[in-house]
Amino acid sequence: MDIFCGGGSAEQGRTAYLISEGTHSILLDFGVQRVFAGTYAGRYPQMELEMLSRVEGVVLSHAHEDHSAALPLLVKQGLKVPVYCHRLTAALTPMYCASWRGAVENANFCPPYSKEDVNSLFFSPQEFGKVFTIGSFDVEMGPSGHMPGSAWILVTGKSHKLLYTGDICRENRLLIPPQLPADISAIIINSAYGAQSMRQAKQEEELLLALEHCMRNGGAALLPVPRIGRGQEMVSCLLQISLSGVPVYIDKGLTDALKYYQDYHEGLSAEGKSFLQGLDMSKFNILPAGFEPAKISKPAIIVMPDAMLSAGPSEKWFRLLAEDERNSIILTGSQAAGTIGARLLSGERIFLPENSGEPFIIGASVKKITWKAHPDWEDLQYLLAPFAGRTEVILGHCNVENSGKLAAELKKIGISSRIMPTGSTIHLPG
Ligand SMILES: [Zn+2]
Ligand SMILES: [Zn+2]
Repeated sequence: MDIFCGGGSAEQGRTAYLISEGTHSILLDFGVQRVFAGTYAGRYPQMELEMLSRVEGVVLSHAHEDHSAALPLLVKQGLKVPVYCHRLTAALTPMYCASWRGAVENANFCPPYSKEDVNSLFFSPQEFGKVFTIGSFDVEMGPSGHMPGSAWILVTGKSHKLLYTGDICRENRLLIPPQLPADISAIIINSAYGAQSMRQAKQEEELLLALEHCMRNGGAALLPVPRIGRGQEMVSCLLQISLSGVPVYIDKGLTDALKYYQDYHEGLSAEGKSFLQGLDMSKFNILPAGFEPAKISKPAIIVMPDAMLSAGPSEKWFRLLAEDERNSIILTGSQAAGTIGARLLSGERIFLPENSGEPFIIGASVKKITWKAHPDWEDLQYLLAPFAGRTEVILGHCNVENSGKLAAELKKIGISSRIMPTGSTIHLPG
């Protein structure tokens, strides 16, 4: 079995692995890397058309753009390849692709593909735990605990079993933690946090302290979140904590997206099920699409998409709240280069208004409190322990520096691992 990395091992984003055995090939994920530079918008998997033309099927781990949003490029190139994935991933992926296309267009670049290319994606929804066949490969998926429909993927070839974890999380507020298959020859594991320790309970505690601090100052706290995933987990968290009558404003899109959780019975944890059953939104002020941020009374908590302040209501609220030093902007996920979120984290404090006019200065405090979405050091030790010494361990979703540190820590506990530079191949002798 050969594993070719088209991106996403020694970097975050544009995840794509081509798995081949003899004349048969499948693709695992085909995503984009959100980076906007002067001369280009986004980076795409590095794969020759000749390689892609041999692909008999794509197995898609989940709908996030760093795993899915390059798929319409296959359609554009005339490759009619079925995309095997969970039914919710099939439902969500066209939205993520369309949103990526829109982001490129908004940045004044030529869109990478057409709306028709997105609409022409051909999905083959699969159930967790049921084996399906693509060419010479048997494939099985299971819930990975990262977002509704997210899956790990087990690929069984003639002489090897490869486990690709996709994005996994063992501490999701609403989803069951992943149970990975044992007895495999190789694993490509999500190592997004490297050797860092990241406990969700501690992160939530820190978030609560930051909110309380902002409320005591009589300010408004803006929580930019993604439309699906962390946005709904944040709603469940805010429902649970005591806010002493502080009004919470939530974008309607975030509460509407709870339907994806309601439709995900096979992946919900007991906590997730009880959250959905006892759902009482009367504690919140739900703001419909197109709501113009007004001068709200403070203190207040405002939860809005998107997560990087790069589009959507969160950017509008940012502009309203940025100058007042009583306010807080709390970022809870990774911020792609060039987005307002990334600029704030790098210390930039002078911004231009949306249209024309005088620049304004950020008076609000800016905080980064990571909301856990990937495995941390403790999780990685737990997940990799069964494979120590007898499995090829490939680190994915991690920059070169962090993966180097992680590989060194893993070595201390008897697990050798490596990254795959983009464009490299690992051959598992058969
Ligand atoms: Zn993801
Ligand atoms: Zn990812």
